[in-house]
Amino acid sequence: MSKKAAGSEIERLIALLARLPGLGHRSARKAALTLLKRRTDLLEPLAAALNEAAAKIVQCSNCGNIDTVNPCTICQDPRRDPSLIVVVEEIGDLWALERAGVVKSHYHVLGGHLSPLDGVGPEQLNIARLIERSAPPVKEVLLALNATVEGQATAHYLTDQLRGRDIKVTRLAQGVPVGGELDYLDEGTLAAAIKSRRAF
Ligand SMILES: [Zn+2]
Repeated sequence: MSKKAAGSEIERLIALLARLPGLGHRSARKAALTLLKRRTDLLEPLAAALNEAAAKIVQCSNCGNIDTVNPCTICQDPRRDPSLIVVVEEIGDLWALERAGVVKSHYHVLGGHLSPLDGVGPEQLNIARLIERSAPPVKEVLLALNATVEGQATAHYLTDQLRGRDIKVTRLAQGVPVGGELDYLDEGTLAAAIKSRRAF
């Protein structure tokens, strides 16, 4: 039988932290220990921030982004170019593009990529709303999808769906390595890929 080193609340904290990406059990124990040692300046503010986020986050019904307001802050921003929608797989990709800061566009988050073997078809993704949005004042849809097989298959599917509309469909160009996921690219590479985007 394994002996427990801490009370069940602490074990639970460690088990939950261990579910975060990039944290195994060992790192989760270290993180938990740091939190417990720094109760007032870290643990309590973090708990409050988590509570607040859990109470307020909503998915934007327009673009699929996650924010505390619906429509999200980006959709409501009048300084953004209303003629350009940048389509991404995940919210992390949207954040990466915003960090790169090259385009002041609107976005559309698909929520993943097509993957028939995993049961992910067009209906499982936020595609119907994208097709609806692809109308004036939108003039260009930039498919900023991962350079993976699934990402590119998804891009081809979307290009087919958008055909026949008065919309320019473009994709990221140079700089995105084959198999590359946007979230892991540095900002300069992303910026270059956006600036030299090309038509499908
Ligand atoms: Zn939005």
